[in-house]
Amino acid sequence: MELQTKNIVTPGELVNLDDHPPEYTGTYEKKGQTKKRLKKLHKQLLELQGLLYAESQHAVLIILQGMDTCGKDGTIRRVMSGINVQGCDVFSFKVPTTDELSRDFLWRAHRSVPSKGKIGIFNRSHYEDVLVVRVHNLVPESVWSQRYQQINDFERMLVENGTVVLKFYLHISKDEQKERLESRIEDPTKHWKVEASDIRERAYWEDYMQAYEVMLQKCSTEWAPWHIIPANKKWYRNLVIAECVVDALKKLDMRYPEPSVDITKLRIDD
Ligand code: AMP
Ligand code: MG
Repeated sequence: MELQTKNIVTPGELVNLDDHPPEYTGTYEKKGQTKKRLKKLHKQLLELQGLLYAESQHAVLIILQGMDTCGKDGTIRRVMSGINVQGCDVFSFKVPTTDELSRDFLWRAHRSVPSKGKIGIFNRSHYEDVLVVRVHNLVPESVWSQRYQQINDFERMLVENGTVVLKFYLHISKDEQKERLESRIEDPTKHWKVEASDIRERAYWEDYMQAYEVMLQKCSTEWAPWHIIPANKKWYRNLVIAECVVDALKKLDMRYPEPSVDITKLRIDD
């Protein structure tokens, strides 16, 4: 079965998100058809992560962005389930603290990048500084407009130093967000997730879409391209992201390191 149309944004490409249907599921019609494939991907992911950890030559940084309820947490739970937690760090980027605001905007991202051998996941990221910050003019345009280039330079530096940067924009529709917010309001076990800001930010949907389009155009680079993930269907979102992560790890062509001792001469006493 075919997985997906083109989901990588070509550097410089003008993106119109209306051209990317959030409900797209390739040639799959229902979740059941993807279970086997996802299971296989989970197995591969675990093996590749073990290799990444053993070799410790590369780090993998996964960046998740999208509107509230787009499934950033669900992706972490479902795609990364089964990997060795020792080799994985998750960072959630919230409203910056005064300490963080007193530094350059990339400081908190840089100090959270994964070390070699590890997978790091950013639940939101430095991209908030050209998204929420742009939509609400939290800093002057003369400041945020320079950040696209600064982000590209930062990510290039990470890549040149052995980090693979994988960026996923989880694309949901405004209707789908409405349903997800409503279900959070109906389900007492999800009340903790509901925030006033979710409703407030929804009113700026169009402004956000525009900010995302500019981000996708300006910050999809050869060294760290953006992937647009159709995310209305959670099972399809999980499958596409798992596939991308496994592909990226495979491309590293990793090897287990040579033993530090002569294995043939080792004898284990009774
Ligand atoms: P959540 O991911 O639901 O926990 O929400 C985190 C909130 O922090 C979101 O509303 C983000 O827009 C906000 N946030 C994250 N980074 C920034 C930033 N650099 N400036 C302002 N708000 C931010
Ligand atoms: Mg939230």
